[in-house]
Amino acid sequence: MPGLPTIPLPLAALPHGFQPGVQALTDASNTTAFDTGLDIRDIFLGIQRCVVCGSRMALHHAHIIPKVESDTWAELDEHEWLPENAKISVKHEQRNGLMLCATHHIAFDSHQFFIRFVPGPDGDMQRARFVFINYAEFIEFVHLHYKAIALDPQDRYSPIPSLFVIQEWRVRGRYPFRNTTPDCPDDIKWADWISSTGILRTDGGPGHFARPSPPRPTRRTPARTAQLPAPMASGSGGMSESSTSRPLPHINDAIADILAAQRKMPTWRACTLENTSWDGTADENIEKYVATVGLEHSGAR
Ligand SMILES: [Zn+2]
Repeated sequence: MPGLPTIPLPLAALPHGFQPGVQALTDASNTTAFDTGLDIRDIFLGIQRCVVCGSRMALHHAHIIPKVESDTWAELDEHEWLPENAKISVKHEQRNGLMLCATHHIAFDSHQFFIRFVPGPDGDMQRARFVFINYAEFIEFVHLHYKAIALDPQDRYSPIPSLFVIQEWRVRGRYPFRNTTPDCPDDIKWADWISSTGILRTDGGPGHFARPSPPRPTRRTPARTAQLPAPMASGSGGMSESSTSRPLPHINDAIADILAAQRKMPTWRACTLENTSWDGTADENIEKYVATVGLEHSGAR
């Protein structure tokens, strides 16, 4: 199963990338790093797309926690809802961002829908998903309700799930009289555009999505055309085509699982390790690495 590489213990040497002087990609705390990070992460077969609907037009770099809310960011940090080395500035942390089309950016910022992180059963990160919830019951979003969107919980730069909890509370406050536990299908499916455009990896490599551009077709090879589905599916309320359903667990009942699961995500561990100083001795650095990552293997010091 893809994920954080296994590190043999006892640790004889620091893993690749953690030697003194080696810094991670997002260390430069500036807006360019934020924008570039999203451009690299939210790309599918070489094309940047809205992670909700797959549109490649009118793309925005959206913030989950608004970029003006440095106070909210500080509170999240104070309560350890952020990894230890998350960027100090709310607007520069790539894990607080996502690529959205103009429509979904406006809807997200005006609290019309939220994204729920659903941990995989028994901590299985391969089956964890970020799921769209059509809480405002917009007919335009019915086809996306309870569908997994194109964010990969296994990505080391994945959004931090607790940030979506804040967004969810705001959506619930925006619509105080909606059903607090909307019906959801029994199982989570990928959004239709994800399962129908060939962006899901089939080669067993790490992560769910094929990121690079496909090879250019030769003249003798017909170009593969990625067909996006019809934008709307019929239906009512927030339900899609599934025949059976269950209530979405209220966020207050789900939050403990979300906070526990996010600490096991590659994005959390990677963020924690970024900007950590590795200027000590080899033994000191090994101890720091083990303490920071929280390795649970038997034999860990
Ligand atoms: Zn969109």
